[in-house]
Amino acid sequence: MRTSMRAAIATSPGLPLVISEMSIPKPQPGEILVKILACGVCHTDLHAIDGDWPVKPRYPFIPGHEVVGVVAALGQGVKNFREGDGIGVPWLHDACDTCEYCTSGWETLCASQHNSGYSVDGGYADYMIASAGYATPLPLDASAPELAPILCAGVTSYKGIKETEVRAGEWLAVCGVGGLGHLAVQYGKAMGMHVVAIDVAQDKLDIARQAGADLVIDGASELGVRQLLRETGGGVHGALVTAVSTQAFAQTLRLLRRKGTMSLVGLPPGEFPLPIFDVVLKRLTVRGSIVGTRRDLAEALEFALDGKVSASVQHRRLEEVNEVLAELKAGKVRGRVALVMDAAA
Ligand code: NAD
Ligand code: ZN
Repeated sequence: MRTSMRAAIATSPGLPLVISEMSIPKPQPGEILVKILACGVCHTDLHAIDGDWPVKPRYPFIPGHEVVGVVAALGQGVKNFREGDGIGVPWLHDACDTCEYCTSGWETLCASQHNSGYSVDGGYADYMIASAGYATPLPLDASAPELAPILCAGVTSYKGIKETEVRAGEWLAVCGVGGLGHLAVQYGKAMGMHVVAIDVAQDKLDIARQAGADLVIDGASELGVRQLLRETGGGVHGALVTAVSTQAFAQTLRLLRRKGTMSLVGLPPGEFPLPIFDVVLKRLTVRGSIVGTRRDLAEALEFALDGKVSASVQHRRLEEVNEVLAELKAGKVRGRVALVMDAAA
């Protein structure tokens, strides 16, 4: 087996990634060496590379947390995978397993968690280390790279929709139809909801239509907002905000009907004003939602494996990663890009 691999490395905030050769890591007890087939490029990777958030990554690091691969080697004591198995690695790389959150089905809130492509090296590489208790089994067939976006964009959308408490037959708004949002529209439909999709880019609204949205609205247009309020009978029951724009958060609150819930998922650095009077009098709920638990991920994958949800994936090479990130920042990516690794590497 080879001893070195390619990796795209973030060296300091805001700088282009550097592609270099480095040693293939060795799995420790409880860990798995994953030979990567594909890794989705999430907007979170841009936030990570740019150091946008209060908790900074430690540079240098390898981004990427939508990983589909093959088990290449097992660390001591790993029983739930075998060499050659298909494997998916999500953002939640591992957690402590013992705190009040881990023991109550909320491991995504563990204060001691590690995150793939942030606090531990991720999937913009030929190989990475996964934690056996947190990686997920995947079928290995030709469509494996198409599953990469489900590992973050899919599960985050699915969990965020559950957090809106919208029921089948009710209205869900999806604000921001990028990597997360184009899947959120499909999850909402597959969960029996009426879905209105909102974006500020026309090509994203076309994607929303293709994804099955019942109504698409240009978020920048006051007319569009009025149309939404009319066609939904007074506003949506719940809204998922995936837009990388603080204004979008304030705007989406206006779209909720009484007793509505807004699930915040997008992570632009910043704040938005919350009108106290409206929140109180309309009994609105504003709630954060962070990726999804292992259970959520298994459910989100079921939708994809059943063909009810499918990511629109553009394949690109690892060497193109800086171009891809620039396109994502400029809002030019439709659906999701996956870096597809060289099978022979
Ligand atoms: P993306 O760049 O693919 O999509 C963002 C979309 O927002 C684009 O379609 C863009 O046109 C749209 N948008 C921008 N301004 C808008 C506005 N004012 N109104 C409506 N739409 C607008 O990004 P992505 O990969 O889908 O990620 C979206 C955000 O979600 C990022 O901030 C990312 O970090 C965050 N995220 C959060 C979690 C979580 O667990 N909470 C998980 C994954 C990603
Ligand atoms: Zn992500």
